[in-house]
Amino acid sequence: MSAHDAPPPEPRDHVLDACFLGPYGENNALLEKILVEFLRDHVYWRRNFHPEDPPAISTAAALHPDYLAFEARMRRELHQLSAVLKKSVPFHSPRYIGHMASDLLLPGLAAQMLTLPYNPNNVTEDVAPVTVDMEVQVGLQLARMLGYPHDPTQSACAFGHLTSGGTLANYQALRLALALKAFPLALRAAQVPDLDLPADDWSAFNLSHAQGIALLDRWQQWLVAQSPQQRADWLARVERERIEQRGIAGFFAAHPDLKVPRVLAPITAHYSWSKGLKLLGLGRDQLELLPTRGMRLDADALRERVEQLAREHIPVLMAVAVLGSTEYGTIDPIDGVIAARERARALGLDFAVHVDAAWGGYLATLFRNEDGSLRSREEVAGEFSYFPSPPIHRAFEALAHTDSVTVDPHKLGYLPFGSGAFVCRDHRAVALLGERADYVFHGDGKADYMKRYRGLGQFVPEGSKPGAAAAAVYVVHKVLPLDHVHFGRLPRTTVRATEIFYDRARRFTQEIAARMRVRVPFEPDSNLVCLAFNPHGNATVAGANAFVRRLYEELRTDPGHPLQLKEFFGSITSLRPELVGATQTASILGELGLDPASFGADADRLLILRHTLMNPYLIDRENDISYIELYFDFLARSIAALGNAAPAV
Ligand SMILES: *Cc1c(COP(=O)(O)O)cnc(C)c1O
Repeated sequence: MSAHDAPPPEPRDHVLDACFLGPYGENNALLEKILVEFLRDHVYWRRNFHPEDPPAISTAAALHPDYLAFEARMRRELHQLSAVLKKSVPFHSPRYIGHMASDLLLPGLAAQMLTLPYNPNNVTEDVAPVTVDMEVQVGLQLARMLGYPHDPTQSACAFGHLTSGGTLANYQALRLALALKAFPLALRAAQVPDLDLPADDWSAFNLSHAQGIALLDRWQQWLVAQSPQQRADWLARVERERIEQRGIAGFFAAHPDLKVPRVLAPITAHYSWSKGLKLLGLGRDQLELLPTRGMRLDADALRERVEQLAREHIPVLMAVAVLGSTEYGTIDPIDGVIAARERARALGLDFAVHVDAAWGGYLATLFRNEDGSLRSREEVAGEFSYFPSPPIHRAFEALAHTDSVTVDPHKLGYLPFGSGAFVCRDHRAVALLGERADYVFHGDGKADYMKRYRGLGQFVPEGSKPGAAAAAVYVVHKVLPLDHVHFGRLPRTTVRATEIFYDRARRFTQEIAARMRVRVPFEPDSNLVCLAFNPHGNATVAGANAFVRRLYEELRTDPGHPLQLKEFFGSITSLRPELVGATQTASILGELGLDPASFGADADRLLILRHTLMNPYLIDRENDISYIELYFDFLARSIAALGNAAPAV
């Protein structure tokens, strides 16, 4: 990785000072003030609903022994809960550099806690008159961050909604892509006249996204022109032919010339893709995992594969690019995936392009100006030592040309768990997910758009869903708009910390050279850096793994021991030769002095440490403490202590 000019020294950011409760709970007075104020506010709201209704619970009730006994039991259990929660993972601390979690943004935490007693259910506006709109707005805010059209007065506006997490958002992407691809075949099977339908099932399944939506539009217009009776008949007739009605088995039996489609993803893809294919009923056999280069999808391999599939007439439902892989933080060449689709298109094969940005999605704020335009690579690079390399800038630029994206507000959005998001570039396809066959939807304009999606439960995998989570994401996006000036402060701080960590790791490599070989096995693309280790005198993968396992003992969560005994929390992952590719594996093993022949049944992967650098206070400017320095001191001590213990294998 080549360094550009060093960024200007970071000024102390006093906005960040107010963003979180803080490692020490520094902002407790602020949070307490907010919580008390809005709890009272909620109580007055109850009282002012019908102030003429007298209190149903007697003012003397609190004196009754049963009341007191209940309160005592409740307190007892709450104390016990609070006590055991002390064993929780200290996500708030800059000593936590393990998984993809950190402190929570105060505006999100406060908004969520403030909304909880109102208990809105975002399944529909009937039970969430306020927060369901916020959820739809969140979709538009995220669409803007990604470079999608986000003006609901335009017919081709994006749409997004929240899910329980990235797993369900990825599933929604699969569901939507399949609905849009399979629908033209239903129109053909129902023999709808006048629509200028594709000539055969293969070409019907291989319409481009835009052509599929244009056909859906024509069908809706056509329906509107029919008499009410005819409309109902045709709707029923097409409904009977849809994949959502017939199921995968029935649908493909009815279209024997069409093979079951594949889903292409890099081998680094999250296991939610395997879950998604199982859930959809396509089965894991249909998930093809493609090789990577340096843990980033090999775009040439993708291009060759889709060309081959086109020749064999095997359809592709979707190609997935990962923007920030879960284990390595690496970013796939999204532009390369778009280019591969162009090539396939010329051969009659078309597919949806989805970006799994569950982890890296919010990094897009670094690339966005306040007016929504894209920042040049040079502008962004002026703030960092290495970030963003030209391929990374191209990946973010290409987001605008994809069909849908998964983003997790509960990862780099610093929001409480239970918040994933699915965003698609053109909302019109979403009509096909409706549980009621009411997809005769017309009307443009923001009011119609909002009205339609207030019945959110129609379109999403879940039913009842927390309005409080939507309120939290919405408020965070309002307080910190999704551009580099506002929300971008957070990833700017943490990516800079990651660069400091990376530089420190490379110096560490030299410092520890007398004792062992330590390497950064691949360059970081996001806030995630891995380290590989091999003690001197060892040449086997099994030996290196035994050492890393013992090192990890020092870094893992262990409910059997008091938290305070741990200095740092990290996580562990592994490199498998089939994941890394032969050349890269040989080079990593060579650097570490490991024998490639020692990969075997007992050691089919190389264990490495994984560090997720999300905490905004890793460099504590108030006290001039670098937790990164402290971490490497800790590593050096741990390595020395392990070296003096029994031999590794
Ligand atoms: C975390 C993650 C997921 C799954 O998201 P959940 O919120 O855990 O369901 C999917 N893909 C990627 C790349 C992720 O990092």
